[in-house]
Amino acid sequence: MTPDRKSTLDYKSMAFPGEWDEETLKSKFLEFMNELIRETQSNLPPKRLQYQVEQSVEYENIRKQWSDLTPTERLNGWKQLLEKAEDALKNVLPTCVQCGECCRKGSPTLHLEDLELLQQGKIPWKQVFVLRKGEPVRPPDEKNDGKPYFLLDDRIKLREKQEGQGCVFLDDTTDRCTIYADRPIQCRAQACWDPSESKELAKGVYLTRQDIFEKVELLMNIIVEHEKRCSFESLHEAFKQLQESGAKEPEQFLALVSYEDHFRDFVSEQFHIPKGELELVLGRSFASLMPVFGLKVVEEPDGTKCLVAEGENSSHP
Ligand code: SF4
Repeated sequence: MTPDRKSTLDYKSMAFPGEWDEETLKSKFLEFMNELIRETQSNLPPKRLQYQVEQSVEYENIRKQWSDLTPTERLNGWKQLLEKAEDALKNVLPTCVQCGECCRKGSPTLHLEDLELLQQGKIPWKQVFVLRKGEPVRPPDEKNDGKPYFLLDDRIKLREKQEGQGCVFLDDTTDRCTIYADRPIQCRAQACWDPSESKELAKGVYLTRQDIFEKVELLMNIIVEHEKRCSFESLHEAFKQLQESGAKEPEQFLALVSYEDHFRDFVSEQFHIPKGELELVLGRSFASLMPVFGLKVVEEPDGTKCLVAEGENSSHP
């Protein structure tokens, strides 16, 4: 044990757990684990450590008996927990303890093996969507200074609560996955104790819209037509021209955003596909992605649409 570590353990051991109720015990213990992680500069998420310890027999016994323990027994129990946390940090179990940390960072991308989960209804179709080739996406973990990067190919993903707010299947109250037994392969491969295991999966085959809709000719035709008329390549080109004009000539950019909107309205109405579910067929709308370009579309009182920088409410000063 390093001198620094010993000082934290001593400091926390000098607390007076004799007075604590069970809730206080839990919060003090979490506080201690956060400090432990900070001091040791471990990459382990604090919740991961917390859940590993909380699933041990020793923790369960101390927690259950807590209200009946004498102050001296509580002090001994508290010290035992601190040692258990230190031990857990040194001997991280090579298994998922369902702490929800990976799920909070974002939702998984689906692989070909996950198609069955969709076909068998274990993952509802409305909870997946496509990110299209060329689409700007925000990197996880503030990589690349949080700047968006552009996808080289389509990716099918589970929805997130809000972009960057964690997987839609994560129950925030319990930190548990609500489809754990039927979770996608990427979730199974995620190994917070050994990131190299997750990297191995990157060599796998991603699920595509072609895999999903290959037998539905009509939808495949719509996808091809949408790509032809509303590709991200054309949106980037229009955005480049908008920038070159110093934002003085937004017509081409706006026309494309608005055309894409009409395209999806048409498909939704003609083929009775709810707009939300259309995101698996056509991806997210150009209009919904304007914030990634630092813009938003505003409708003026006379019905005309214009582009303004995000944060502004109107094109007029
Ligand atoms: S599907 Fe389940 S395990 Fe996978 S990220 Fe979502 S909540 Fe987590």
